[in-house]
Amino acid sequence: NHRSATGSGTQETLGLRPTEMDRPSMRGVHEFEARLMEVLRTGEPGEAILTFDLPGGRRTHSLLIRAEHDAEGAVSGALVIGRDVTDLIAAQEAIARREREFRTLAENAKEFIGRWSPDGVRLYVNPALAALMGRAPDELIGQPSRGGMGGLFSDVTGAIALCAEEARPRTILHTYSNPDDGSTRVHEIQLVPEFDECGTVISVLGVGRDVTTVTRQREELEHASRTDSLTGAANRRVLYEVLPDAVVAAEQAGRHVALILTDLDGFKHLNDLYGHTFGDRLLRAVAHALAACTTPDRPAIRLGGDEFVLIAEVDSPTDAALVAHGIQVMLGQLGRDDERFPPVDACFGISMSPHDGSEPDTLLAAADLALHAAKRKGRSRVEFYRAELRAAAERRSTIEDALRNTVPDLEMELFLQPICELGPSGAVWGVEALLRWRHPVLGQVSPNEFIPVAEQCGQIVRLGRWVLTQAAAIATELNCGRASPLRVCVNVSTRQFTLDDVADAVVDALRSTGCDPRWIQLELTESLLLEEIPLVHDAIDRLRALGVGIAIDDFGTGYSALHYLTKLPIDHMKIDKSFLRDVEVDAHQQEIVRALVALASAIDVDVVAEGIETEGQAVFLRGMGCELGQGFLLAVPMPRDQLVAWLAQREHSARSI
Ligand code: C2E
Ligand code: MG
Ligand code: MG
Repeated sequence: NHRSATGSGTQETLGLRPTEMDRPSMRGVHEFEARLMEVLRTGEPGEAILTFDLPGGRRTHSLLIRAEHDAEGAVSGALVIGRDVTDLIAAQEAIARREREFRTLAENAKEFIGRWSPDGVRLYVNPALAALMGRAPDELIGQPSRGGMGGLFSDVTGAIALCAEEARPRTILHTYSNPDDGSTRVHEIQLVPEFDECGTVISVLGVGRDVTTVTRQREELEHASRTDSLTGAANRRVLYEVLPDAVVAAEQAGRHVALILTDLDGFKHLNDLYGHTFGDRLLRAVAHALAACTTPDRPAIRLGGDEFVLIAEVDSPTDAALVAHGIQVMLGQLGRDDERFPPVDACFGISMSPHDGSEPDTLLAAADLALHAAKRKGRSRVEFYRAELRAAAERRSTIEDALRNTVPDLEMELFLQPICELGPSGAVWGVEALLRWRHPVLGQVSPNEFIPVAEQCGQIVRLGRWVLTQAAAIATELNCGRASPLRVCVNVSTRQFTLDDVADAVVDALRSTGCDPRWIQLELTESLLLEEIPLVHDAIDRLRALGVGIAIDDFGTGYSALHYLTKLPIDHMKIDKSFLRDVEVDAHQQEIVRALVALASAIDVDVVAEGIETEGQAVFLRGMGCELGQGFLLAVPMPRDQLVAWLAQREHSARSI
């Protein structure tokens, strides 16, 4: 036919053999003619290629040569059909090139690459994947992917099937445990469905990467962000993760979540005494012990410092208290199991869902209030949250604010309560200075209420110094012109020793008032002495050296730190008024007082009985050999002017007897 490919008109080429055509741009014409002759000879179809170097570039034509037969079946000629296949060849070459490229990529990639039929037969496995499976690619290709791998990849097989079924890509994390050495690797596998022209899934391509390092790093980070670095216990974050579910689960089971907050007794002191390394070790031991009685899904949590919290599902408050007691016993055991630790006590504050709240913050705040209430009561206490605690906490913060703003000269006053000999003379030995506070809005606030708050917020330092100066001024005034000196007893809080230099404060007070040190006696609580803080002993020694007296207040209510008592230079022990309350009728109380007095005399210390309200108590104490007493029976605490009048009247009547 007439085609421009040959570059000739139809008429020009008719009657010519291919080789006779004068087409310099045409190549392959001899081979074409040879093929043609062969077809004519054999009658079998043939093919040939002709190329044309045209101005626009080389074109390639594919020629199909078919023999034509006459009626008798003899070859009568040949039909040649030519097609310009330049673009087709270029496209095929491009495809082949790209396939080569991809294959090279796949064959050399570290990634595990495979292709599966929708029913899980392996169509392709790259060397990395084959090596992982411990086979040659040829052994794997064409096999169903479940075959022979002992289920090691069964979750991958499942994912492949799902990917084919849903016709959607999916990414899975597969943990591969090496059967030889037991090591595990984590692989991230991306599965992509491959479609035919009709949109049917014909295969699934999978590309897997070893993400072990990244995964481990992520896990480590995750772990670190949920772990307390010092003790390895869970941290606060975990509480907020675990608690809401625990509350819901308990509610569904008709039970309660008890949030058990605990704080070691005297930890700060142990830390100061034995050093931080010891403190850290102790905290780790406590965390370890707590871990032993919790489960990984509800771990013991360190909130900070020496504060830990436990989440327990319980039926009743009694059960929660039992858990707390169990922990107490276990902590007590610490010192027994490891001689490096002293006996450890702890206080507990407990809140319960849903009664005290369901939100983590609410439950935690409630448990915290309960814990503080427990700590205020002493060591080894367990307290439950009660609504009153919240009111009390609010009252405390009101008092704290008022204390910060108080001007003692305007709002405070020292009342004085005489301390007298219990013997027949009844002579006045001294007075105890008792702080009184009248706040313009709150009115009269009891020292039993504001002193603990002042201790806690540190205001006790300022108040304590004010009290010392006032007391020294009073002592100076009272003793002016007296033959037998009167002692003014001043209460000093433990916190004054730890926050302030008490000896220094006393010296200041004495100096500014011209007071004789022997006119002052300090009343310390037993707990202060229990804490074998060098600083405290130092201060006491310096005070004693000045001539200041030292008394132990509220004796018998603290911990019998007898060992320290015998070592300390003490002048008096004040038997707490709680021992006297029923002493007239309660033989048991009598024995206790007898023992306390005997103890004092054994270590050669005088006793002051506090809170004497009845003649019967006074008689009993006298009988015990107790020399000094203080109480409403003898005199109530009174303002300075009143005391001066009381003393004058008292001494006047003594003279007139
Ligand atoms: P305390 O040192 O044991 O003082 C004795 C308390 O017993 C005083 O209570 C006193 O008024 C009270 N009292 C005296 N005689 C009797 C009695 O016959 N029966 C009864 N039931 N009670 C009697 P107050 O004045 O309310 O002081 C309470 C506590 O506050 C004191 O106990 C002391 O620990 C503390 N305190 C008072 N003033 C100061 C101070 O200036 N500094 C410090 N740090 N604490 C102080
Ligand atoms: Mg006192
Ligand atoms: Mg007392």
